[in-house]
Amino acid sequence: MDLSLTADEIRFRDEVRGLIAATFPPPERYDGRPAHERRWLQALLDRGWAANRWPEAFGGPGWTPTQNFIWEREVTAAGLPPQVGGMGMGMLAPILFAYGTPEQQARFLPDILHDRVRWCQGYSEPEAGSDLASLRTRAVLDGDSYVVDGEKVWTSGAHRADWMFCLTRTSDEPVRQAGITFLLLDMRSQGVTVRPIISIDGRHMFNRVTFDAVRVPVENRVGREGEGWTVAKGLLTHERTGQAYVSLSTDLSRRLRLAAAELAGSEGGRLLEDTGFGRRLAWADIELQALAMTELRTLSEVAAGGAPGAQSSTLKLKGTDIVQRMTEFFVECAGPYAAPWFPEASGVAPLDVGPAWARPEVARYFEGRAASIAGGSDEVQRNIIAKRVLGL
Ligand SMILES: Cc1cc2nc3c(=O)[nH]c(=O)nc-3n(C[C@H](O)[C@H](O)[C@H](O)COP(=O)(O)OP(=O)(O)OC[C@H]3O[C@@H](n4cnc5c(N)ncnc54)[C@H](O)[C@@H]3O)c2cc1C
Repeated sequence: MDLSLTADEIRFRDEVRGLIAATFPPPERYDGRPAHERRWLQALLDRGWAANRWPEAFGGPGWTPTQNFIWEREVTAAGLPPQVGGMGMGMLAPILFAYGTPEQQARFLPDILHDRVRWCQGYSEPEAGSDLASLRTRAVLDGDSYVVDGEKVWTSGAHRADWMFCLTRTSDEPVRQAGITFLLLDMRSQGVTVRPIISIDGRHMFNRVTFDAVRVPVENRVGREGEGWTVAKGLLTHERTGQAYVSLSTDLSRRLRLAAAELAGSEGGRLLEDTGFGRRLAWADIELQALAMTELRTLSEVAAGGAPGAQSSTLKLKGTDIVQRMTEFFVECAGPYAAPWFPEASGVAPLDVGPAWARPEVARYFEGRAASIAGGSDEVQRNIIAKRVLGL
């Protein structure tokens, strides 16, 4: 595949750079706080770029896969999020395009686009993670609504979410997948309880959500009753395609090279010139290039009307492996300066020593460990590849 940019693509890249510089004039940099988030969202909405991967018919800019690729590279390198709108934008919207009724599309998509409504994902349950089809949260039809009882766990951001897209059991078919139904549930409904799960780093991201006779109008069912597994699988392929982390790893590699060029190596020169370190980093970069090609190929197929399918498992598996290796390199670079960050969870203030990048990068290393579990563990991705790609 020819990756050199055409004149039009270079013009597009410069437009993207122009938008970034106009929204956050240097030396100001995006810091992730709400005021910056709003400013970035408004700039994207004004430009018609807020939903970069959506089809034009639903308000997307109609970019080619290469334009999306350029967009993610440029925006990530500037420290900005390539997409706003969280799980609604990247995960639920493609499902509503494919399975939503025109009423559901008209009701939910504008709020996702303008980031007015936050969504969370209610799939996992205490006894149903990798084996998702064994989920037990029950939805019983009663008049014009379902009555939902059960429990979800590891629900990221449920404490801030307005709505949840969730999987429920509507019948006990011998084939467990056949009895599952996909519902959109208003988190303010009576009977919803959200309890925090505090993770080892002291943060509150996860939650346990219980449903006690929660009523969900039938009009909030996506797809037919019993079709939830097909809908859920479609959603997961979009989630996993978004977990290739190519832009993030590319940016990590660039910054890693800058850091390693400053540090003393063990062969008399800089760390970047050490044979072992340089070879391992080069190898990771080569694998990253191959991953980027696979991502582009997948995005081209999706743009041509296809679905990501089992390829999304390859992207997620390899993408997770590479991003984790990049963060491991940073820990290696930080050496003893990685150590002061370990006690943070126990409330001991970190010491202000070592290079400025050490603290955020070592924190990213720990965060990155979860990538091989979230969205389906590595083992589960390998099972899918074995079955659907290798035919084993
Ligand atoms: C950061 C993060 C965010 C998350 N956010 C959400 C969310 O918002 N919503 C949501 O619904 N869920 C969320 N999850 C949950 C996630 O989907 C599950 O943790 C994941 O599917 C694994 O399920 P489990 O934790 O029950 O582990 P288990 O399924 O119990 O697996 C335990 C171990 O056994 C292995 N294993 C299991 N089955 C097999 C098999 N058949 N073959 C080989 N090995 C196997 C697994 O790979 C794993 O190593 C999140 C998880 C993380 C880490």
